[in-house]
Amino acid sequence: MIFYTLYANDRGELLDDPYLQMLGGSGDKWVAPDPEEMTPLPEGASLVTVPRQRAVGLDGYGSPKLVSGDEAAWAVAALLPQGFTRTLIPAGVRAENGNGKLPLLGYAAIGFYDGQIYAAALQTDEHRKWHPDNFNTDDLPLKIKKFRTKYPRNRIYAQLEQCAAEYSCFTAQNIFYRRWEGGIPTENACNACCLGCISEDHMGILSPQVRLSFHPELEEICAVGVEHLAKAEDAIISFGQGCEGDPALNAELLAAAIRKIRAAAGTGTINMNTNAGYAEGVKKMCAAGLDSMRVSIFSCLSHNYNKYHNPRGYDLQTVTDSLKLAKEHGCFIALNLLTFPGFTDMESEIEALLAFVSKNPVDMIQFRNLNIDPLQLWQQIDISEEGTGIVNLIRVLETEAPHLRLGSYTPPVGKKI
Ligand code: SF4
Repeated sequence: MIFYTLYANDRGELLDDPYLQMLGGSGDKWVAPDPEEMTPLPEGASLVTVPRQRAVGLDGYGSPKLVSGDEAAWAVAALLPQGFTRTLIPAGVRAENGNGKLPLLGYAAIGFYDGQIYAAALQTDEHRKWHPDNFNTDDLPLKIKKFRTKYPRNRIYAQLEQCAAEYSCFTAQNIFYRRWEGGIPTENACNACCLGCISEDHMGILSPQVRLSFHPELEEICAVGVEHLAKAEDAIISFGQGCEGDPALNAELLAAAIRKIRAAAGTGTINMNTNAGYAEGVKKMCAAGLDSMRVSIFSCLSHNYNKYHNPRGYDLQTVTDSLKLAKEHGCFIALNLLTFPGFTDMESEIEALLAFVSKNPVDMIQFRNLNIDPLQLWQQIDISEEGTGIVNLIRVLETEAPHLRLGSYTPPVGKKI
């Protein structure tokens, strides 16, 4: 299977070049994709032009070439729906005036084969609950209005209305659809300064979301929590959303909320997405009844962890302490592995990850496509080796850590015993 190059002209029309083989990016290298790294363009994916990046491909002599023609040829990519892990980023050359930073989007390379568009991606979890067709439906505004009318002074519902309508946040919308994983943002402070943070500008890159500007009261949190856990299908409530800092810093209040919510609603899952850098906070929330915890991690090597997360007042050792504390309280633990082709699949990173999950009580790895401008990332993180392929990363985890569940999002684990 040979995939051919796709590109866009100045009118945004998508075209293929039948003389140039597709190239994808792995770290700072361009590679021709292996068929097992490619999948037919998934439903719900959107096709975009990569800003200020010229399209390239491989000619018949095996040399990379700019797509040429009468018009400019721009690199194109797919933004994948949740449940698909990217295996290659788009290859391309930044245009002369291309000094602008790419927005925080998860661009995946695409190619053309036998009349069909393929994406450099693998399906890593079931798609239904995150399929874009299930969101932004015509009846959503009315559903939002119903909650806002019932709880006119609840600031969390007001925040979630903005997240659902402006940011198209799926976990915000699920609160109004009364189903699946619903987000409850409560904290605007954070003890990390991640390069790719989506709620605060770091490295001069505009974050796609504005961080929460208030601290909700106990009653506001419990109202949202009980409404969802008691009435939603396959309900999960998750503290730690894209529009906030780290919820563990709000542990005193959230521990009280967890107890109160659990007293009123005995079903569903109470989850926290966190950097786990505040172990005392994690302990408080787990002792109060937290069922599952998802910990975001870019690397299990301290030097790379520090360069990406810029932790304040904690380090990777603190994170492992938090995992052990959480497991002592029976919590389901997932790593939210911020995955970037050519970095996460480097041999040294894979070995460190295997060592980490063998020494620490991790139940699941969720692959999260890291949305960041690769040029920005390589300025901070040195890629000392070639990537071995995201396919290889997953295969090694399947064989070397068979106890691990692999996927893309938090499963409903139910109320812990
Ligand atoms: S832990 Fe989350 S909120 Fe804090 S800097 Fe990192 S991405 Fe942003």
